[in-house]
This record gives sequence, C-alpha cells and structure tokens, in this order.
Amino acid sequence: MVSDPVPVHLSGPREACGVFGIYAPGQAVSKAIYFGLFALQHRGQESAGIATSDGQTLTVVKDLGLVAQVFDEADLAALDGHLGIGHVRYSTTGSSSWHNAQPAHRQVGTTSVALGHNGNLTNTALLAERLGVGTASTDSDLMLEAIARQIDDERSDSRGLEHALLKVLPGFEGAFSLVAMDQGRLIGIRDPHGFRPLSLGRIGDSGWVLASETSALDLVGATFVRDIEAGEMVVISAAGVRSHRPFGETNPQLCVFEFVYFARPDSQLYGRNVFAARQQMGRLLATEHPVSADVVVPVPESGIPAAQGYAEMSLIPYADGLVKNRYVGRTFIEPSQMLRDQGIKLKLNPIPTTFAGRRVVLVDDSIVRGSTTRQLVAMVRAAGAREIHLRVSSPPYRWPCFYGMDTSDRSQLLAARMSVEEIAAYLEVDSLGYLSLNALLKSTGAPIDGFCSACLSGDYPTDVSQAGTKLLLEPAP
Ligand code: SF4
Repeated sequence: MVSDPVPVHLSGPREACGVFGIYAPGQAVSKAIYFGLFALQHRGQESAGIATSDGQTLTVVKDLGLVAQVFDEADLAALDGHLGIGHVRYSTTGSSSWHNAQPAHRQVGTTSVALGHNGNLTNTALLAERLGVGTASTDSDLMLEAIARQIDDERSDSRGLEHALLKVLPGFEGAFSLVAMDQGRLIGIRDPHGFRPLSLGRIGDSGWVLASETSALDLVGATFVRDIEAGEMVVISAAGVRSHRPFGETNPQLCVFEFVYFARPDSQLYGRNVFAARQQMGRLLATEHPVSADVVVPVPESGIPAAQGYAEMSLIPYADGLVKNRYVGRTFIEPSQMLRDQGIKLKLNPIPTTFAGRRVVLVDDSIVRGSTTRQLVAMVRAAGAREIHLRVSSPPYRWPCFYGMDTSDRSQLLAARMSVEEIAAYLEVDSLGYLSLNALLKSTGAPIDGFCSACLSGDYPTDVSQAGTKLLLEPAP
C-alpha cells in the first residue's frame, strides 16, 4: 500500500516541488536529469518524473516514490534525447496519485508538450470556470489544459508552445516556477513575483540547465549563469537562449522560507549562500534573545547553521545533542501503531551526555503546528536537561501560505491561536524567543523588500481571496 510519506521535517512547513530542465545538443540527458532531481529530492518526496525528447518524440516516465525508487537503468535508457525536464513533487493540491505526478504531458496535433510546476496558482477556480473544466485535479493540469487549447487554436503557427505560453501566462495568478518543453525547445518561466526560485546554468560548450536550486546545477557540473528573473520566460533551442516578458508589472517577492528552511544550505538565492544566511539568523537571534545557558544544541538538520551562529555570538558552547535517523523520514512505509507511539523517536534520538544536568538553548528554524516540537522538548527534558530555552530562527508562523506550502489551514498554525507566552507554556519550555522579521530579512543580505513573508506578517503580495476556502481574514493575535 502506498501511503503519505512520513514528513522529513519535524515541525516546519513542507515544500511543494522541485524542477529541472536541460538542453544539451549531442548528449543523452536522462542521467543528468536523474542526478539533478536527486539534488532536489528534499523539495518533494511523493513522486518523481522525467520527460525527454530526441527532437522528434517526447517520452515520459513518472511514478509515485523517491527518485531512486522510480527510475532504474532501463527507464533512463528509454528516456532518449538531448532535451528534457524533471520534477519531484510533494502534493499541496490534488491527491497523491500517479495521475498527479509530473511532468504533466499532452499531445496536441503534432506537438507534444510536457510541464513541471513548482508553486500554487491562486486563481484556479476562475481558470477552471474560464476553461469550462470542473474535474481538473491540480492547478498544473489546468495550466496544461489552457496551454494545450491555445496550441490547438493556433495549429498553423510553427511557434506552437512558445507562442501559446505568451498568450496564456498572463491569465495565471499566484506562484509558478515552470519548466516546459516540446519536441525541440526547453522553456523556463517564473511568475511576476518569483515566489519560487529558478536558476539558469551552462553545461559543456553549448548546453543549458534550469533548476529550482543552484545546488542541482553544481551536482551535474553546470556553471551558474543567473537567476531567471521574476516575470521572465526563457526559451532555449537550437537558436540559442531568448528571453520574453509576458507579464505586465513585476515585483520580486521570493519566498523567505526558501532561506529559512526549504532550500539546501549549499544553494545560492539572490546570489547569497543559504548556509551563511542561516548562520547570520542565529547570530541575530542571540542578540535579540540572549539567555544564560551551558550549551547550544541544534534541531537537525536545518537548525544547525542558526545554532552555530547563536553559539558564536553568545559564546555559549555548541554541541550536537540530537541524532537524526536520516532515512526514516524518506520512507513510504507507514509505521505500525506500536512504532507510531514512539513519535519523534523514529526521527531523532537524544545524546544524554549533551543534556544531563545542563541549561540548554535548543535552536530550530520554525514552528508551524507545534505538536512535534512539544514531543521534542519532552524528549530533551527526559534526557536530563535542567532548563530548555527554545530559540527559533524565524518569526511566529501565523498565516496560511497560498503559494505552494502545505499550510493552507490557519487553524493548524500554533501561532495563529496562541501568544508567544502561551506557546512557551504549551511547549513546556523555560523560555521561547523568535527571530524578528526585520532581522530575518536582514540576515539574507538581499534587498529586504524582495521577499514574500505573508505567513509571518499576513501581508500577501497578491490577491488571495480566491485562493482557498480555508482563508480566515481575522487579524493575528
Ligand atoms: Fe513563503 Fe510564507 Fe510567502 Fe508562502 S506565505 S511563499 S511560505 S513566505
């Protein structure tokens, strides 16, 4: 039986997807896409897929599971061609089924199209109504339906997919970093706010790569060229790389949680290293929320750089105290009830000598629902900690995300229901400190007005009134 994967992250939001694309004349690209998806596996563990083209025929292989589970040598050999896209998915819309695995693909006359999407549209209801489609199960399906119809309308136009995209993209609202292809072209797109990252790299003498994160470029031996800009569409083909601006106004608003948690620490966002930014978050956290303690311990793995920064600034020694069972978070086997009772111990185990009799600063990157953090604190207490001072390298997560995270129900958000003091009491910690929004934005080293922080501030960069029925518009406590 295939069930929802056990969440990799302990208490934070979960990411929607990762996308990858490559155009490398004269080369077989399926293995490069496979390894590119490997580098992006942290962005989605539910399904994986690859589409390739040899210039004539477009082939797609996709399934539920991790990259290593979905593809074998025979699959990669069958994925012939010098051009292709790949996708890893964590579902935030639609159910977990093979049909929802991406790349999504369509045949329209002689044109084959494949599409991989990271993000969430916020006008799906309107789009479905416009298209007269009631049953589309994902926003990515809707996009492909709109694109396919446009291609069909313009069959006599040899620019096919490229021209259709220029026509339909302005009708999409919300978050979408896309890789798309037909038999001869690779296309990369970022929405006018650039909520989700997408980078362009160079491979070999004449090849190009698109990837959600620069670490995926590194892994396949590509050189980072630049980020695809908010509102930009690049078309890569035998004619080279061309850039279009299909949207009107653009306003870069990269998701600040890419810096806090989602992106790999070895990736670059806005030209800044994510690991260095997370360390700086820890330094500023120590400045804003100092405490007398004996040891600083991270919640692995994304809490590690912030804990290092906190220790450096506070001069309190840093120590590892929680060992992560790296592979359990990536299983599709549902734990039995007996194992489920083990709770967080399936994922983390304490090192008692780090905690026994000590005053501990525990550093995590975020608290979303809070139930696992509560278990974690109890576990650290049981391991002998005398005091637990929880420090969080982001502000309270109070508002739902409509741009590709799985937190669209505000009632699930701990900080939407409780004050910081109430959260501290609920988690049973001796003190609790969150990094301020201003300090978080400054830590990135990027322009502070270039970020979406709606889940922290309630200030949405786009109209989200159509985005979900669960949105509650009352003020944060
Ligand atoms: Fe990221 Fe939060 Fe904005 Fe969603 S609402 S895109 S999680 S910053």
